[in-house]
Amino acid sequence: MKPVNRREFLDVAGLAGGSILAGNVSAADAPHALTVGKPPNPTSAAPANDCKPMQTAPHPMEVQPGARVVVEAPRHTPVSADVDVLVVGAGPAGIGAALAAAREGARTLVIERHGMLGGVWTAGLLNPFFDFEKKGWLVAELIERLKKAGVWRRWEFSWTFDTEAMKLLLETTLAEAGAATWYYSLVADTIVERNRVRGVVVESKSGREAVLAKVVVDCSGDGDVAARAGVPFQLGRIADSACQPLTLMFEIDGLGDWVQTKAEDLYDRMQEAVHRKQLAVRMPVGRVNFAPWIINVPRPGVAVVQATHVYQINPLDTRQLTRATSEARRQAHDLVQVMKHVPGLESVRLVQTAAAIGVREARHLVGRYTLGLEDMRAGRRFEDGVTFGAFGVDIHDVKPGEKSAHGARIKPYEIPYRCLVPESLGGLLFAGRCISGTHEAHASYRVTGTCMAMGQAAGLAAAMAVREGKSPEQIDGPTLRRALEARQVGTKGRSPSNSPTPCCRVTLPGSTTSTSCTASPTRLARRSTPCSTWRKIRQRRMTWPRDSRIASLG
Ligand SMILES: Cc1cc2nc3c(=O)[nH]c(=O)nc-3n(C[C@H](O)[C@H](O)[C@H](O)COP(=O)(O)OP(=O)(O)OC[C@H]3O[C@@H](n4cnc5c(N)ncnc54)[C@H](O)[C@@H]3O)c2cc1C
Repeated sequence: MKPVNRREFLDVAGLAGGSILAGNVSAADAPHALTVGKPPNPTSAAPANDCKPMQTAPHPMEVQPGARVVVEAPRHTPVSADVDVLVVGAGPAGIGAALAAAREGARTLVIERHGMLGGVWTAGLLNPFFDFEKKGWLVAELIERLKKAGVWRRWEFSWTFDTEAMKLLLETTLAEAGAATWYYSLVADTIVERNRVRGVVVESKSGREAVLAKVVVDCSGDGDVAARAGVPFQLGRIADSACQPLTLMFEIDGLGDWVQTKAEDLYDRMQEAVHRKQLAVRMPVGRVNFAPWIINVPRPGVAVVQATHVYQINPLDTRQLTRATSEARRQAHDLVQVMKHVPGLESVRLVQTAAAIGVREARHLVGRYTLGLEDMRAGRRFEDGVTFGAFGVDIHDVKPGEKSAHGARIKPYEIPYRCLVPESLGGLLFAGRCISGTHEAHASYRVTGTCMAMGQAAGLAAAMAVREGKSPEQIDGPTLRRALEARQVGTKGRSPSNSPTPCCRVTLPGSTTSTSCTASPTRLARRSTPCSTWRKIRQRRMTWPRDSRIASLG
Protein backbone atom coordinates (compact mmCIF):
# COMPACT_ATOMS: atom_id res chain seq x y z
CA MET A 1 0.00 0.00 0.00
CA LYS A 2 1.72 3.13 -1.18
CA PRO A 3 0.27 6.62 -0.87
CA VAL A 4 0.51 8.63 -4.09
CA ASN A 5 -0.31 12.16 -5.10
CA ARG A 6 -2.82 13.12 -7.79
CA ARG A 7 -0.22 13.29 -10.55
CA GLU A 8 0.77 9.71 -9.74
CA PHE A 9 -2.90 8.87 -9.59
CA LEU A 10 -3.33 10.14 -13.13
CA ASP A 11 -0.25 8.19 -14.19
CA VAL A 12 -1.79 5.04 -12.79
CA ALA A 13 -4.93 5.86 -14.69
CA GLY A 14 -2.88 5.89 -17.91
CA LEU A 15 -3.02 9.66 -18.31
CA ALA A 16 0.58 10.66 -17.81
CA GLY A 17 2.58 13.12 -19.90
CA GLY A 18 0.31 16.16 -19.72
CA SER A 19 -2.47 14.47 -21.64
CA ILE A 20 -5.51 16.72 -21.96
CA LEU A 21 -7.40 14.37 -19.70
CA ALA A 22 -4.82 14.72 -16.95
CA GLY A 23 -5.61 18.33 -16.16
CA ASN A 24 -3.35 20.73 -14.34
CA VAL A 25 -3.41 19.56 -10.76
CA SER A 26 -0.87 19.60 -7.99
CA ALA A 27 -0.12 17.18 -5.20
CA ALA A 28 -1.65 19.69 -2.78
CA ASP A 29 -5.03 18.99 -4.37
CA ALA A 30 -4.88 15.37 -3.32
CA PRO A 31 -6.37 14.96 0.13
CA HIS A 32 -6.79 11.18 0.02
CA ALA A 33 -4.27 8.39 -0.31
CA LEU A 34 -4.39 6.00 -3.21
CA THR A 35 -3.25 2.41 -3.21
CA VAL A 36 -2.12 0.54 -6.25
CA GLY A 37 -2.30 -3.22 -6.24
CA LYS A 38 0.85 -5.06 -7.28
CA PRO A 39 -0.12 -7.21 -10.24
CA PRO A 40 0.71 -10.90 -9.72
CA ASN A 41 1.33 -11.37 -13.44
CA PRO A 42 3.43 -8.50 -14.82
CA THR A 43 2.93 -9.53 -18.45
CA SER A 44 -0.85 -9.21 -18.43
CA ALA A 45 -0.79 -6.04 -16.34
CA ALA A 46 1.57 -3.90 -18.41
CA PRO A 47 0.41 -0.25 -18.31
CA ALA A 48 -1.22 1.10 -21.45
CA ASN A 49 1.73 3.39 -22.26
CA ASP A 50 4.34 0.63 -21.93
CA CYS A 51 5.75 0.01 -25.41
CA LYS A 52 7.53 -3.26 -24.57
CA PRO A 53 6.14 -6.26 -26.43
CA MET A 54 3.45 -7.88 -24.35
CA GLN A 55 2.91 -11.58 -23.99
CA THR A 56 -0.28 -12.78 -22.46
CA ALA A 57 -0.30 -16.27 -21.04
CA PRO A 58 -3.38 -18.21 -22.15
CA HIS A 59 -5.93 -18.59 -19.39
CA PRO A 60 -6.62 -22.26 -18.63
CA MET A 61 -10.12 -23.37 -19.56
CA GLU A 62 -11.87 -26.66 -19.74
CA VAL A 63 -14.12 -27.55 -22.64
CA GLN A 64 -15.99 -30.84 -22.49
CA PRO A 65 -16.96 -32.34 -25.84
CA GLY A 66 -20.47 -31.17 -26.77
CA ALA A 67 -20.73 -29.02 -23.65
CA ARG A 68 -22.73 -25.78 -23.66
CA VAL A 69 -20.54 -24.16 -21.03
CA VAL A 70 -16.82 -23.60 -20.65
CA VAL A 71 -15.32 -24.00 -17.21
CA GLU A 72 -12.85 -21.23 -16.39
CA ALA A 73 -10.17 -21.88 -13.80
CA PRO A 74 -9.87 -19.40 -10.91
CA ARG A 75 -7.62 -16.56 -11.99
CA HIS A 76 -5.56 -13.80 -10.45
CA THR A 77 -6.74 -10.48 -11.85
CA PRO A 78 -4.37 -7.57 -11.27
CA VAL A 79 -5.72 -4.59 -9.34
CA SER A 80 -4.77 -1.70 -11.59
CA ALA A 81 -6.21 1.17 -9.57
CA ASP A 82 -7.78 1.83 -6.19
CA VAL A 83 -9.68 5.09 -6.08
CA ASP A 84 -12.15 6.95 -3.91
CA VAL A 85 -14.98 7.20 -6.40
CA LEU A 86 -15.32 5.06 -9.50
CA VAL A 87 -17.88 6.19 -12.06
CA VAL A 88 -18.90 3.59 -14.63
CA GLY A 89 -20.22 5.16 -17.83
CA ALA A 90 -19.59 8.68 -19.06
CA GLY A 91 -23.05 9.67 -20.26
CA PRO A 92 -24.81 12.74 -18.84
CA ALA A 93 -25.21 11.03 -15.44
CA GLY A 94 -21.60 9.86 -15.35
CA ILE A 95 -20.32 13.29 -16.28
CA GLY A 96 -22.36 14.85 -13.47
CA ALA A 97 -21.17 12.23 -10.97
CA ALA A 98 -17.49 12.39 -11.92
CA LEU A 99 -17.37 16.18 -11.97
CA ALA A 100 -19.10 16.45 -8.61
CA ALA A 101 -16.92 13.83 -6.91
CA ALA A 102 -13.67 15.25 -8.32
CA ARG A 103 -14.62 18.85 -7.48
CA GLU A 104 -15.22 17.70 -3.92
CA GLY A 105 -11.66 16.40 -3.73
CA ALA A 106 -12.33 12.68 -4.21
CA ARG A 107 -9.87 10.73 -6.36
CA THR A 108 -12.20 9.94 -9.20
CA LEU A 109 -11.87 7.57 -12.14
CA VAL A 110 -14.36 7.27 -15.00
CA ILE A 111 -14.50 4.05 -17.01
CA GLU A 112 -16.15 4.25 -20.42
CA ARG A 113 -16.49 1.64 -23.16
CA HIS A 114 -16.49 4.18 -26.02
CA GLY A 115 -13.59 6.45 -27.04
CA MET A 116 -15.37 9.63 -25.96
CA LEU A 117 -17.24 11.17 -23.07
CA GLY A 118 -20.92 12.04 -23.27
CA GLY A 119 -22.79 8.76 -23.85
CA VAL A 120 -25.92 9.37 -25.90
CA TRP A 121 -24.97 13.10 -26.17
CA THR A 122 -21.96 12.21 -28.34
CA ALA A 123 -21.76 8.51 -29.31
CA GLY A 124 -25.52 8.64 -29.81
CA LEU A 125 -25.56 11.97 -31.79
CA LEU A 126 -28.43 13.11 -29.59
CA ASN A 127 -29.92 16.59 -29.57
CA PRO A 128 -31.61 18.68 -28.21
CA PHE A 129 -30.70 19.07 -24.53
CA PHE A 130 -33.92 18.67 -22.51
CA ASP A 131 -34.86 19.68 -18.97
CA PHE A 132 -31.62 21.39 -18.03
CA GLU A 133 -33.19 24.59 -16.77
CA LYS A 134 -32.77 25.44 -13.09
CA LYS A 135 -30.87 22.21 -12.45
CA GLY A 136 -28.04 24.36 -11.15
CA TRP A 137 -24.41 23.72 -10.21
CA LEU A 138 -22.62 21.55 -12.77
CA VAL A 139 -25.52 21.37 -15.22
CA ALA A 140 -25.72 25.16 -15.27
CA GLU A 141 -21.95 25.36 -15.61
CA LEU A 142 -21.93 23.03 -18.62
CA ILE A 143 -24.58 25.12 -20.36
CA GLU A 144 -22.57 28.29 -19.61
CA ARG A 145 -19.47 26.70 -21.13
CA LEU A 146 -21.38 25.63 -24.24
CA LYS A 147 -22.75 29.16 -24.59
CA LYS A 148 -19.34 30.73 -24.10
CA ALA A 149 -17.81 28.44 -26.73
CA GLY A 150 -20.52 29.55 -29.19
CA VAL A 151 -21.76 25.99 -29.68
CA TRP A 152 -25.24 26.41 -28.18
CA ARG A 153 -28.26 27.23 -30.33
CA ARG A 154 -31.96 27.88 -29.77
CA TRP A 155 -34.07 25.32 -31.54
CA GLU A 156 -37.86 25.07 -31.51
CA PHE A 157 -38.68 23.53 -28.10
CA SER A 158 -35.28 23.62 -26.57
CA TRP A 159 -31.56 24.17 -27.25
CA THR A 160 -29.00 22.22 -29.21
CA PHE A 161 -25.22 21.86 -28.97
CA ASP A 162 -22.39 20.93 -31.30
CA THR A 163 -21.55 17.25 -30.76
CA GLU A 164 -17.86 17.48 -31.60
CA ALA A 165 -17.40 20.55 -29.40
CA MET A 166 -19.21 18.73 -26.59
CA LYS A 167 -16.69 15.85 -26.71
CA LEU A 168 -13.73 18.20 -26.22
CA LEU A 169 -15.50 20.37 -23.68
CA LEU A 170 -16.35 17.39 -21.51
CA GLU A 171 -12.76 16.11 -21.65
CA THR A 172 -11.39 19.52 -20.73
CA THR A 173 -13.88 20.04 -17.92
CA LEU A 174 -13.29 16.61 -16.37
CA ALA A 175 -9.52 17.03 -16.64
CA GLU A 176 -9.70 20.45 -14.98
CA ALA A 177 -11.65 18.87 -12.13
CA GLY A 178 -8.88 16.29 -11.74
CA ALA A 179 -10.86 13.19 -12.70
CA ALA A 180 -9.11 10.48 -14.70
CA THR A 181 -10.70 8.61 -17.57
CA TRP A 182 -10.16 5.19 -19.12
CA TYR A 183 -11.63 4.79 -22.59
CA TYR A 184 -12.22 1.56 -24.49
CA SER A 185 -12.84 -0.26 -21.22
CA LEU A 186 -15.89 -2.41 -20.68
CA VAL A 187 -16.94 -3.12 -17.14
CA ALA A 188 -17.55 -6.86 -17.26
CA ASP A 189 -18.18 -7.72 -13.62
CA THR A 190 -18.67 -6.28 -10.15
CA ILE A 191 -16.55 -7.10 -7.14
CA VAL A 192 -18.65 -7.56 -4.01
CA GLU A 193 -17.13 -8.18 -0.61
CA ARG A 194 -19.38 -8.93 2.37
CA ASN A 195 -22.45 -7.18 0.97
CA ARG A 196 -20.51 -4.16 -0.14
CA VAL A 197 -19.46 -3.30 -3.67
CA ARG A 198 -15.67 -2.97 -3.72
CA GLY A 199 -15.00 -2.34 -7.39
CA VAL A 200 -15.32 -3.73 -10.87
CA VAL A 201 -13.56 -5.98 -13.36
CA VAL A 202 -12.67 -4.29 -16.62
CA GLU A 203 -11.99 -5.96 -19.98
CA SER A 204 -10.02 -4.07 -22.60
CA LYS A 205 -7.05 -4.30 -24.95
CA SER A 206 -4.95 -4.16 -21.76
CA GLY A 207 -6.50 -7.43 -20.62
CA ARG A 208 -8.66 -8.16 -17.62
CA GLU A 209 -8.07 -5.80 -14.69
CA ALA A 210 -9.70 -5.02 -11.38
CA VAL A 211 -10.40 -1.50 -10.15
CA LEU A 212 -11.22 -0.99 -6.48
CA ALA A 213 -13.09 1.99 -5.07
CA LYS A 214 -14.60 3.24 -1.85
CA VAL A 215 -17.79 4.11 -3.73
CA VAL A 216 -18.89 2.94 -7.18
CA VAL A 217 -21.47 5.00 -9.06
CA ASP A 218 -23.26 3.01 -11.75
CA CYS A 219 -23.97 5.42 -14.61
CA SER A 220 -23.94 2.76 -17.31
CA GLY A 221 -27.49 3.60 -18.38
CA ASP A 222 -28.32 -0.12 -18.33
CA GLY A 223 -27.38 -0.60 -14.65
CA ASP A 224 -24.70 -3.18 -15.52
CA VAL A 225 -22.67 -2.78 -12.31
CA ALA A 226 -25.65 -2.98 -9.97
CA ALA A 227 -27.23 -5.91 -11.79
CA ARG A 228 -23.98 -7.87 -11.65
CA ALA A 229 -23.80 -7.14 -7.93
CA GLY A 230 -27.21 -8.73 -7.51
CA VAL A 231 -29.39 -5.62 -7.25
CA PRO A 232 -32.89 -6.65 -8.39
CA PHE A 233 -34.28 -4.90 -11.45
CA GLN A 234 -37.25 -4.72 -13.79
CA LEU A 235 -36.43 -4.83 -17.48
CA GLY A 236 -38.74 -2.44 -19.36
CA ARG A 237 -42.38 -2.48 -18.31
CA ILE A 238 -43.82 -4.87 -15.76
CA ALA A 239 -46.41 -6.57 -18.00
CA ASP A 240 -44.02 -8.09 -20.53
CA SER A 241 -40.52 -6.59 -19.94
CA ALA A 242 -40.86 -4.81 -23.28
CA CYS A 243 -38.74 -1.66 -23.62
CA GLN A 244 -39.21 1.51 -25.62
CA PRO A 245 -37.96 1.23 -29.23
CA LEU A 246 -34.35 1.91 -30.16
CA THR A 247 -33.31 4.77 -32.42
CA LEU A 248 -30.13 5.31 -34.39
CA MET A 249 -29.70 9.07 -34.75
CA PHE A 250 -28.07 10.38 -37.92
CA GLU A 251 -26.51 13.61 -39.08
CA ILE A 252 -27.31 15.40 -42.33
CA ASP A 253 -26.01 18.53 -44.01
CA GLY A 254 -27.06 20.62 -47.01
CA LEU A 255 -30.05 22.09 -45.19
CA GLY A 256 -29.18 25.73 -45.81
CA ASP A 257 -31.61 27.79 -43.71
CA TRP A 258 -34.30 25.11 -43.65
CA VAL A 259 -35.81 24.58 -40.22
CA GLN A 260 -38.54 22.11 -39.39
CA THR A 261 -41.29 23.94 -37.58
CA LYS A 262 -43.88 22.51 -35.25
CA ALA A 263 -46.46 22.65 -38.01
CA GLU A 264 -44.28 20.86 -40.52
CA ASP A 265 -45.45 17.30 -40.99
CA LEU A 266 -42.40 15.95 -42.65
CA TYR A 267 -43.56 12.34 -42.61
CA ASP A 268 -46.58 13.12 -44.75
CA ARG A 269 -44.52 15.19 -47.17
CA MET A 270 -42.03 12.36 -47.55
CA GLN A 271 -44.79 9.81 -48.01
CA GLU A 272 -46.34 12.02 -50.63
CA ALA A 273 -42.97 12.28 -52.46
CA VAL A 274 -42.72 8.48 -52.56
CA HIS A 275 -46.09 8.28 -54.35
CA ARG A 276 -45.73 11.38 -56.52
CA LYS A 277 -42.30 10.42 -57.82
CA GLN A 278 -42.97 6.67 -57.83
CA LEU A 279 -39.77 6.16 -55.84
CA ALA A 280 -38.27 2.71 -55.58
CA VAL A 281 -37.44 3.46 -51.93
CA ARG A 282 -40.41 3.21 -49.56
CA MET A 283 -40.79 4.95 -46.20
CA PRO A 284 -38.86 2.54 -43.98
CA VAL A 285 -40.70 3.53 -40.80
CA GLY A 286 -44.36 3.83 -39.89
CA ARG A 287 -46.04 7.10 -39.07
CA VAL A 288 -45.32 7.79 -35.42
CA ASN A 289 -45.88 11.03 -33.58
CA PHE A 290 -44.09 13.77 -35.44
CA ALA A 291 -41.10 11.83 -36.71
CA PRO A 292 -38.85 12.44 -38.53
CA TRP A 293 -37.64 15.40 -36.56
CA ILE A 294 -34.85 17.36 -38.19
CA ILE A 295 -33.04 19.02 -35.30
CA ASN A 296 -30.77 21.87 -36.37
CA VAL A 297 -27.47 22.04 -34.50
CA PRO A 298 -25.10 25.02 -34.17
CA ARG A 299 -23.37 24.43 -37.54
CA PRO A 300 -24.69 26.05 -40.70
CA GLY A 301 -26.93 23.69 -42.67
CA VAL A 302 -26.30 20.74 -40.33
CA ALA A 303 -28.85 18.81 -38.31
CA VAL A 304 -29.36 15.51 -36.56
CA VAL A 305 -32.44 13.47 -37.34
CA GLN A 306 -34.57 11.46 -35.00
CA ALA A 307 -36.62 9.10 -37.14
CA THR A 308 -35.53 5.47 -37.07
CA HIS A 309 -37.33 3.09 -34.73
CA VAL A 310 -36.64 -0.57 -34.10
CA TYR A 311 -39.21 -2.29 -31.91
CA GLN A 312 -39.29 -5.15 -29.42
CA ILE A 313 -35.55 -5.37 -28.91
CA ASN A 314 -33.97 -6.51 -25.66
CA PRO A 315 -31.15 -3.94 -25.26
CA LEU A 316 -29.25 -6.37 -23.01
CA ASP A 317 -28.88 -8.90 -25.82
CA THR A 318 -25.90 -8.12 -28.07
CA ARG A 319 -27.24 -10.10 -31.01
CA GLN A 320 -30.53 -8.21 -30.91
CA LEU A 321 -28.65 -4.92 -30.54
CA THR A 322 -26.57 -5.76 -33.61
CA ARG A 323 -29.66 -6.56 -35.65
CA ALA A 324 -31.36 -3.37 -34.48
CA THR A 325 -28.34 -1.25 -35.41
CA SER A 326 -28.13 -2.68 -38.95
CA GLU A 327 -31.85 -2.30 -39.45
CA ALA A 328 -31.85 1.29 -38.19
CA ARG A 329 -28.85 2.18 -40.36
CA ARG A 330 -30.72 0.88 -43.43
CA GLN A 331 -33.72 2.99 -42.35
CA ALA A 332 -31.52 6.10 -42.05
CA HIS A 333 -30.09 5.69 -45.57
CA ASP A 334 -33.55 5.10 -47.05
CA LEU A 335 -35.03 8.06 -45.18
CA VAL A 336 -32.41 10.41 -46.61
CA GLN A 337 -33.09 9.07 -50.10
CA VAL A 338 -36.75 10.01 -49.69
CA MET A 339 -36.01 13.32 -47.92
CA LYS A 340 -34.18 14.60 -50.97
CA HIS A 341 -37.51 14.64 -52.84
CA VAL A 342 -39.17 17.04 -50.40
CA PRO A 343 -39.09 20.65 -51.66
CA GLY A 344 -36.38 22.54 -49.77
CA LEU A 345 -34.47 19.39 -48.86
CA GLU A 346 -33.03 18.54 -52.30
CA SER A 347 -29.41 19.13 -51.20
CA VAL A 348 -29.59 17.07 -48.05
CA ARG A 349 -26.78 14.54 -47.62
CA LEU A 350 -26.28 11.82 -45.02
CA VAL A 351 -23.08 12.67 -43.15
CA GLN A 352 -23.01 9.86 -40.61
CA THR A 353 -25.08 7.54 -38.50
CA ALA A 354 -24.30 7.56 -34.76
CA ALA A 355 -21.47 5.42 -33.40
CA ALA A 356 -23.97 3.71 -31.09
CA ILE A 357 -27.69 3.05 -31.34
CA GLY A 358 -29.75 4.95 -28.78
CA VAL A 359 -31.26 2.79 -26.05
CA ARG A 360 -34.10 4.59 -24.34
CA GLU A 361 -34.90 2.00 -21.72
CA ALA A 362 -33.43 -1.13 -20.20
CA ARG A 363 -33.10 -2.03 -16.50
CA HIS A 364 -34.99 -0.16 -13.80
CA LEU A 365 -32.93 -0.99 -10.71
CA VAL A 366 -34.77 -1.47 -7.43
CA GLY A 367 -33.69 1.09 -4.88
CA ARG A 368 -35.00 2.28 -1.52
CA TYR A 369 -37.80 4.19 -3.24
CA THR A 370 -39.40 3.56 -6.62
CA LEU A 371 -40.54 6.71 -8.35
CA GLY A 372 -43.91 6.30 -10.05
CA LEU A 373 -46.27 8.19 -12.31
CA GLU A 374 -48.40 9.08 -9.27
CA ASP A 375 -45.45 10.98 -7.77
CA MET A 376 -45.25 12.96 -10.98
CA ARG A 377 -48.97 13.58 -11.26
CA ALA A 378 -48.92 14.91 -7.70
CA GLY A 379 -45.73 16.93 -8.26
CA ARG A 380 -44.43 15.22 -5.13
CA ARG A 381 -41.57 16.62 -3.07
CA PHE A 382 -39.34 14.60 -0.80
CA GLU A 383 -37.19 15.65 2.13
CA ASP A 384 -34.31 13.87 0.41
CA GLY A 385 -35.18 15.26 -3.04
CA VAL A 386 -31.86 15.79 -4.86
CA THR A 387 -33.14 17.20 -8.14
CA PHE A 388 -36.40 17.58 -10.00
CA GLY A 389 -37.89 16.53 -13.31
CA ALA A 390 -40.24 18.63 -15.39
CA PHE A 391 -40.25 16.89 -18.76
CA GLY A 392 -43.39 15.20 -20.04
CA VAL A 393 -43.92 11.44 -20.00
CA ASP A 394 -42.37 10.51 -23.33
CA ILE A 395 -43.10 6.87 -24.13
CA HIS A 396 -42.45 6.00 -27.74
CA ASP A 397 -44.94 3.26 -28.63
CA VAL A 398 -43.41 0.09 -27.21
CA LYS A 399 -45.00 -1.89 -30.02
CA PRO A 400 -45.93 -0.19 -33.29
CA GLY A 401 -49.26 1.54 -33.02
CA GLU A 402 -49.75 0.65 -29.35
CA LYS A 403 -51.15 3.37 -27.14
CA SER A 404 -49.31 4.19 -23.94
CA ALA A 405 -49.21 6.61 -21.01
CA HIS A 406 -47.50 9.01 -23.40
CA GLY A 407 -48.32 12.62 -22.63
CA ALA A 408 -49.74 11.96 -19.13
CA ARG A 409 -50.21 15.24 -17.26
CA ILE A 410 -47.57 15.72 -14.64
CA LYS A 411 -46.23 18.54 -12.48
CA PRO A 412 -42.57 19.16 -11.74
CA TYR A 413 -41.63 16.51 -9.17
CA GLU A 414 -38.59 15.74 -7.09
CA ILE A 415 -36.34 12.68 -7.29
CA PRO A 416 -35.41 11.37 -3.84
CA TYR A 417 -31.89 10.25 -3.02
CA ARG A 418 -33.38 6.84 -2.12
CA CYS A 419 -34.00 6.18 -5.84
CA LEU A 420 -30.21 6.22 -6.29
CA VAL A 421 -29.45 3.87 -3.41
CA PRO A 422 -29.76 0.05 -3.55
CA GLU A 423 -31.98 -1.54 -0.94
CA SER A 424 -29.45 -3.75 0.77
CA LEU A 425 -25.99 -3.33 -0.67
CA GLY A 426 -23.23 -0.96 0.43
CA GLY A 427 -20.64 0.99 -1.54
CA LEU A 428 -22.92 1.57 -4.55
CA LEU A 429 -25.06 4.34 -6.01
CA PHE A 430 -26.78 4.60 -9.37
CA ALA A 431 -27.73 7.62 -11.45
CA GLY A 432 -29.26 8.27 -14.86
CA ARG A 433 -31.92 6.37 -16.71
CA CYS A 434 -31.37 3.15 -14.67
CA ILE A 435 -32.48 4.55 -11.28
CA SER A 436 -35.32 3.10 -9.28
CA GLY A 437 -38.53 4.09 -11.07
CA THR A 438 -41.35 2.62 -13.09
CA HIS A 439 -41.52 2.31 -16.88
CA GLU A 440 -43.87 5.30 -17.03
CA ALA A 441 -41.92 7.52 -14.62
CA HIS A 442 -38.66 6.73 -16.38
CA ALA A 443 -40.14 8.17 -19.58
CA SER A 444 -39.93 11.61 -17.94
CA TYR A 445 -36.70 11.54 -15.91
CA ARG A 446 -34.66 9.83 -18.64
CA VAL A 447 -33.88 13.12 -20.42
CA THR A 448 -30.32 14.35 -20.25
CA GLY A 449 -30.66 17.45 -18.05
CA THR A 450 -32.31 15.40 -15.31
CA CYS A 451 -29.83 12.52 -15.70
CA MET A 452 -26.88 14.88 -15.31
CA ALA A 453 -28.51 16.44 -12.25
CA MET A 454 -28.95 12.99 -10.69
CA GLY A 455 -25.30 12.35 -11.47
CA GLN A 456 -24.15 15.49 -9.70
CA ALA A 457 -26.17 14.45 -6.63
CA ALA A 458 -24.70 10.93 -6.67
CA GLY A 459 -21.16 12.30 -7.11
CA LEU A 460 -21.56 14.68 -4.19
CA ALA A 461 -23.02 11.90 -2.02
CA ALA A 462 -20.13 9.62 -2.97
CA ALA A 463 -17.56 12.29 -2.07
CA MET A 464 -19.34 12.99 1.23
CA ALA A 465 -19.30 9.26 2.02
CA VAL A 466 -15.55 9.06 1.31
CA ARG A 467 -14.85 12.15 3.40
CA GLU A 468 -16.92 10.91 6.33
CA GLY A 469 -15.69 7.32 6.09
CA LYS A 470 -19.22 6.07 5.42
CA SER A 471 -20.95 3.92 2.86
CA PRO A 472 -23.24 6.00 0.59
CA GLU A 473 -26.46 4.53 2.01
CA GLN A 474 -25.44 6.04 5.36
CA ILE A 475 -25.48 9.56 3.92
CA ASP A 476 -28.44 11.45 5.29
CA GLY A 477 -30.72 12.45 2.40
CA PRO A 478 -31.91 15.81 3.79
CA THR A 479 -28.28 16.76 4.58
CA LEU A 480 -27.31 15.89 1.01
CA ARG A 481 -30.19 18.00 -0.25
CA ARG A 482 -28.98 20.98 1.75
CA ALA A 483 -25.41 20.44 0.51
CA LEU A 484 -26.73 20.45 -3.07
CA GLU A 485 -28.81 23.56 -2.48
CA ALA A 486 -25.70 25.28 -1.22
CA ARG A 487 -24.05 24.52 -4.58
CA GLN A 488 -26.96 25.41 -6.86
CA VAL A 489 -26.10 29.08 -6.85
CA GLY A 490 -24.34 30.76 -9.76
CA THR A 491 -23.22 29.04 -12.90
CA LYS A 492 -19.61 28.26 -12.38
CA GLY A 493 -19.57 25.97 -9.39
CA ARG A 494 -18.31 28.88 -7.25
CA SER A 495 -18.82 28.95 -3.51
CA PRO A 496 -21.96 30.87 -2.70
CA SER A 497 -21.39 34.60 -2.34
CA ASN A 498 -23.82 36.91 -0.57
CA SER A 499 -24.94 38.87 -3.58
CA PRO A 500 -28.57 38.26 -4.61
CA THR A 501 -28.59 35.62 -7.31
CA PRO A 502 -31.46 34.82 -9.64
CA CYS A 503 -32.99 31.63 -8.38
CA CYS A 504 -35.62 30.96 -11.05
CA ARG A 505 -36.79 32.61 -14.20
CA VAL A 506 -39.64 30.86 -15.90
CA THR A 507 -42.47 31.50 -18.29
CA LEU A 508 -45.62 30.15 -16.77
CA PRO A 509 -48.01 28.18 -18.99
CA GLY A 510 -50.39 30.42 -20.83
CA SER A 511 -48.30 33.48 -20.09
CA THR A 512 -45.91 35.39 -22.31
CA THR A 513 -44.02 37.12 -19.57
CA SER A 514 -41.26 35.71 -17.44
CA THR A 515 -41.44 35.71 -13.72
CA SER A 516 -38.39 35.47 -11.57
CA CYS A 517 -37.34 35.18 -7.99
CA THR A 518 -34.12 36.24 -6.35
CA ALA A 519 -32.85 35.06 -3.05
CA SER A 520 -29.53 35.43 -1.34
CA PRO A 521 -27.40 32.32 -1.60
CA THR A 522 -27.34 32.01 2.15
CA ARG A 523 -31.12 32.00 2.25
CA LEU A 524 -31.19 29.49 -0.59
CA ALA A 525 -28.76 27.25 1.21
CA ARG A 526 -30.88 27.34 4.37
CA ARG A 527 -34.19 26.94 2.62
CA SER A 528 -35.47 23.38 2.57
CA THR A 529 -38.36 24.21 0.24
CA PRO A 530 -38.03 25.31 -3.38
CA CYS A 531 -38.48 28.98 -4.22
CA SER A 532 -41.88 30.59 -4.51
CA THR A 533 -41.71 30.79 -8.30
CA TRP A 534 -41.21 27.09 -8.41
CA ARG A 535 -44.16 26.60 -6.07
CA LYS A 536 -46.22 28.81 -8.36
CA ILE A 537 -45.41 26.58 -11.31
CA ARG A 538 -46.57 23.57 -9.37
CA GLN A 539 -49.79 25.25 -8.33
CA ARG A 540 -50.58 25.99 -11.97
CA ARG A 541 -50.77 22.21 -12.66
CA MET A 542 -48.05 22.45 -15.15
CA THR A 543 -47.29 19.80 -17.73
CA TRP A 544 -43.96 20.51 -19.22
CA PRO A 545 -43.67 20.52 -22.16
CA ARG A 546 -47.15 21.86 -22.84
CA ASP A 547 -47.19 20.85 -26.47
CA SER A 548 -47.67 17.08 -26.50
CA ARG A 549 -45.74 16.97 -29.74
CA ILE A 550 -42.56 17.77 -27.86
CA ALA A 551 -43.02 14.58 -25.93
CA SER A 552 -42.25 12.57 -29.06
CA LEU A 553 -38.75 13.79 -29.45
CA GLY A 554 -36.60 12.21 -26.81
C1 LIG B 1 -32.72 7.98 -29.50
C2 LIG B 1 -32.81 8.76 -28.25
C3 LIG B 1 -33.23 10.06 -28.31
C4 LIG B 1 -33.27 10.82 -27.15
N1 LIG B 1 -33.61 12.14 -27.23
C5 LIG B 1 -33.40 12.94 -26.19
C6 LIG B 1 -33.43 14.35 -26.36
O1 LIG B 1 -33.74 14.84 -27.42
N2 LIG B 1 -33.09 15.11 -25.30
C7 LIG B 1 -32.74 14.57 -24.09
O2 LIG B 1 -32.40 15.33 -23.18
N3 LIG B 1 -32.75 13.23 -23.89
C8 LIG B 1 -33.04 12.41 -24.91
N4 LIG B 1 -32.97 11.05 -24.76
C9 LIG B 1 -32.76 10.45 -23.43
C10 LIG B 1 -31.30 10.47 -23.02
O3 LIG B 1 -30.43 10.50 -24.08
C11 LIG B 1 -30.88 9.28 -22.16
O4 LIG B 1 -31.91 8.80 -21.36
C12 LIG B 1 -29.70 9.74 -21.30
O5 LIG B 1 -28.59 9.92 -22.15
C13 LIG B 1 -29.38 8.76 -20.21
O6 LIG B 1 -28.18 9.19 -19.61
P1 LIG B 1 -27.27 8.15 -18.84
O7 LIG B 1 -26.05 8.88 -18.46
O8 LIG B 1 -28.08 7.47 -17.82
O9 LIG B 1 -26.96 7.03 -19.93
P2 LIG B 1 -26.19 7.06 -21.31
O10 LIG B 1 -26.25 8.37 -22.00
O11 LIG B 1 -26.74 5.87 -22.04
O12 LIG B 1 -24.67 6.81 -20.90
C14 LIG B 1 -24.23 5.56 -20.41
C15 LIG B 1 -22.73 5.48 -20.66
O13 LIG B 1 -22.23 4.30 -20.06
C16 LIG B 1 -21.38 3.62 -20.97
N5 LIG B 1 -21.45 2.19 -20.61
C17 LIG B 1 -22.55 1.41 -20.61
N6 LIG B 1 -22.26 0.19 -20.16
C18 LIG B 1 -20.94 0.19 -19.87
C19 LIG B 1 -20.05 -0.79 -19.37
N7 LIG B 1 -20.48 -2.02 -19.05
N8 LIG B 1 -18.75 -0.47 -19.22
C20 LIG B 1 -18.30 0.79 -19.53
N9 LIG B 1 -19.11 1.76 -20.01
C21 LIG B 1 -20.42 1.47 -20.16
C22 LIG B 1 -21.98 3.91 -22.32
O14 LIG B 1 -21.04 3.73 -23.36
C23 LIG B 1 -22.39 5.38 -22.15
O15 LIG B 1 -21.37 6.27 -22.46
C24 LIG B 1 -32.94 10.24 -25.90
C25 LIG B 1 -32.53 8.91 -25.84
C26 LIG B 1 -32.48 8.17 -26.99
C27 LIG B 1 -32.01 6.76 -26.91
